[in-house]
Amino acid sequence: MAMTATEKQRYARHLSLAEIGAAGQSRLKNSKVVVIGAGGLGSPSALYLAAAGVGKLALVDYDVVDLSNLQRQVLFTNADVAQSKVAAAAKRLAALNPDIEVVAHDLQLTADNILDTLREYDVVIDGTDRVSTRYLINDACVILGKPLVSAAIHRFEGQALTYLPERGPCYRCLFPNAKDGQVPNCADAGVLGVLPGVMGSIQATEAIKLILGIGELLTGRLLTYDALTTRFDEFTVARRTDCAVCGEHPTILTPQDAVPKSKTTAAQRALISHSTPRQLQLRLGSAAESTTPILLVDVREPHEFERGHLAGCVNVPIGELAARMDELVASLSGSSRGRSSRPDVVFVCRSGGRSLQACEMAVGARLTAVPINLDGGLLAWARDVDPEFVVAPV
Ligand SMILES: [Zn+2]
Repeated sequence: MAMTATEKQRYARHLSLAEIGAAGQSRLKNSKVVVIGAGGLGSPSALYLAAAGVGKLALVDYDVVDLSNLQRQVLFTNADVAQSKVAAAAKRLAALNPDIEVVAHDLQLTADNILDTLREYDVVIDGTDRVSTRYLINDACVILGKPLVSAAIHRFEGQALTYLPERGPCYRCLFPNAKDGQVPNCADAGVLGVLPGVMGSIQATEAIKLILGIGELLTGRLLTYDALTTRFDEFTVARRTDCAVCGEHPTILTPQDAVPKSKTTAAQRALISHSTPRQLQLRLGSAAESTTPILLVDVREPHEFERGHLAGCVNVPIGELAARMDELVASLSGSSRGRSSRPDVVFVCRSGGRSLQACEMAVGARLTAVPINLDGGLLAWARDVDPEFVVAPV
């Protein structure tokens, strides 16, 4: 189909590139890309894909715009706060390029709807921040045979990988076992606002190259970017023959629902005990004569721990807890030598969320009879017990 005069003008800088030209621009126009997650990564990738003239551009998200999103989610403005993300994004993208079709999927992807949602698109961009959703998307793309451009961000670091069906490793080849909670998300760990701008732009670049069939893709190469040192690195990643979804004998043949947030049952959850800051203060004060000693475990990131922590606390970041559970069990049996009973384990974090996850993991691993959560975390401790206590920002 011939290009209109306005299209010729709009895409003039693409048309002058020999690698794109009129034929490439027409390929972009005939392509369909779906961006999952209208957030930090989805914002720049959707904006650039719309600007580049991708003919059909879909966004999937079920959230509303929050004021704290605007630090990095450049699709939105102040006026969009409390609005549906995909609706606001669709309006913005249509304003940027009225010649393309923008589709808003206001839904949460599940094992039941993901194949139907992704089926019609040529390229999938994963801009989500939840590990379990990442696996769901990866598995759906492997099953559908769709290229997938993944990226992830954490504090000052980003990474990206492009999966090509039959040609390279998938996300599950790279991380066979990660689970939600082991990788803190933006809300827990914080993120430099411009970082997703870099990584999301890389995702858009990969998608455009893929559609045009030019250049080299990040297939079998994990790209990492450290914004603090301004260093890009890459690591060769091989396809795993024993991968559960793309390997020789796959065990995942249909998408599986996101790993539940917690595998603990209600009965197990009932084994978790809760402590207010004042109760913990009383317990610590009387620990010397108490029959049951206390082990305090701070599950925040080391940079948060260094800024201020409770006396006698050990630091085991939530992401390392599963791997270091044996070490903790050993320290428990060590410290209980000569005592009448094993210590109670109290988990603490900034606001009580990560520590509750830690309690659930401790119940699952039978670390202690009754793990105790410091409800409200160290923020509550500073408020109710020790106003001088410094709680590092995340
Ligand atoms: Zn794989």
